[in-house]
Amino acid sequence: MILYQGKVKDILEGPEPGTVLVRFRDDVTAGDGKKRARFVGKGRVSREISEHLFQYLERQGVPTHYVGPYDVTSFVAKKVNIIPLEVVVRNVATGSLVRRLGIPEGKVLDPPLMEFFYKNDALHDPLICRNHVFLLGICDERTLDAVEVLAEKANHLLKGYFQERGLRLIDIKFEFGRDPDGRLVLADELGPDIMRVWTLDGRSLDKDVFRQDKGNLMEAYHELRNAVIRR
Ligand code: ADP
Repeated sequence: MILYQGKVKDILEGPEPGTVLVRFRDDVTAGDGKKRARFVGKGRVSREISEHLFQYLERQGVPTHYVGPYDVTSFVAKKVNIIPLEVVVRNVATGSLVRRLGIPEGKVLDPPLMEFFYKNDALHDPLICRNHVFLLGICDERTLDAVEVLAEKANHLLKGYFQERGLRLIDIKFEFGRDPDGRLVLADELGPDIMRVWTLDGRSLDKDVFRQDKGNLMEAYHELRNAVIRR
């Protein structure tokens, strides 16, 4: 039974109580859902990358919703109450940060910059600050502090993981939730739709290939997958 149908994934009832299936479809969207397409095999490769990175973060002590494998396009996760916050961590300036603030494209951000967006389709996921988080009742201060610590740690670990494979993690969007025991966990996905990864010579292996029509999306996603699964 489908519990929730998102733009690119479905959330279904899981095999055990308190679990869900996170199922990746072959859809891709960009520009607030205005640009859409479908690529055969995208769901599978997004699931593979996502699952691999969740397993890596779990081994490194980051609590996540990941439970285990299921099938080619789905994995089992804890059912969580998603905090309606998109936590973006940026290691290098690009995209909306460059457009909004005029920061030079490609500038290294050290320490990484953390931004919050209110996860609300009707409002088009606006950029918000800490005070807005509390004003909107998105979460309390202790939770936000814990979210920041986890986002920073996950970004740091993933940045290193990609670095070891000759790739640069440019930025990434995290979502967090509370599992049935009330534990704060990293949720949603860790695929190339929610992060930017560049090769050392500056090619994108992520959704920018689709956003900016710069090449073959599936080739880029497969190249990323092959790097991610390399030991
Ligand atoms: P959107 O909701 O933006 O269209 P997706 O297509 O990625 O995005 O849909 C997946 C949805 O499932 C997201 O809203 C995400 O917050 C939610 N979600 C992710 N992991 C879980 C989970 N473990 N339990 C419940 N909901 C989840």
